[in-house]
Amino acid sequence: MKSLLMINTGNGKGKTTAALGLAFRALGHGQRVCIIQFIKGSWKYGELLSSERFKDGLDFHVMGRGFTWKSDNLEKDTAIAVDAWDFARQTIVSGKYDLVILDELTYLISYKMIKEEDVTDCLKNRPENVHVLVTGRNASQGLIDIADMVTQMNDVKHHYKAGIKAQKGIEF
Ligand code: ATP
Ligand code: MG
Repeated sequence: MKSLLMINTGNGKGKTTAALGLAFRALGHGQRVCIIQFIKGSWKYGELLSSERFKDGLDFHVMGRGFTWKSDNLEKDTAIAVDAWDFARQTIVSGKYDLVILDELTYLISYKMIKEEDVTDCLKNRPENVHVLVTGRNASQGLIDIADMVTQMNDVKHHYKAGIKAQKGIEF
């Protein structure tokens, strides 16, 4: 077995849903999965309700607040981000999970709330049995460099641009 570092990035839809699909697949094998959501609100009701049915093997944690561009207190948000990353680091290092999903982690790096080097150091030295999947737009170069797999979701077309609002089961 070779543990992988995977990244779902790009502007197209599907980064988080593909991560959930991977979790679904791993859970089917009885593997243990931890999903950490770094941006509050990015975890939608559909997956929240589904996760109740997968209690056996699946843990998830909601960290963070809103998006930083809405932030009225960047210092506080940064402190929350640092704590959230610290929790993720401990989760990876514990070796307790076969798959750790770091949903929307890329934003914490691109907004300079946490140091890219702290993340890459941890991911490079993760336990041998732990797969990690990072999602979020604009994955930084340092992260891409150490990854085994990087998928760039390409935004060819999105219904939102035609004025179609978020649909149950598709967006939430
Ligand atoms: P999803 O959670 O649906 O897989 P994602 O993780 O790829 O999406 P995020 O940047 O996390 O994308 O944004 C999540 C929300 O934004 C979803 O409701 C999604 O439909 C919407 N979204 C994603 N990509 C686009 C886009 N290119 N244009 C408009 N809305 C988008
Ligand atoms: Mg997402």
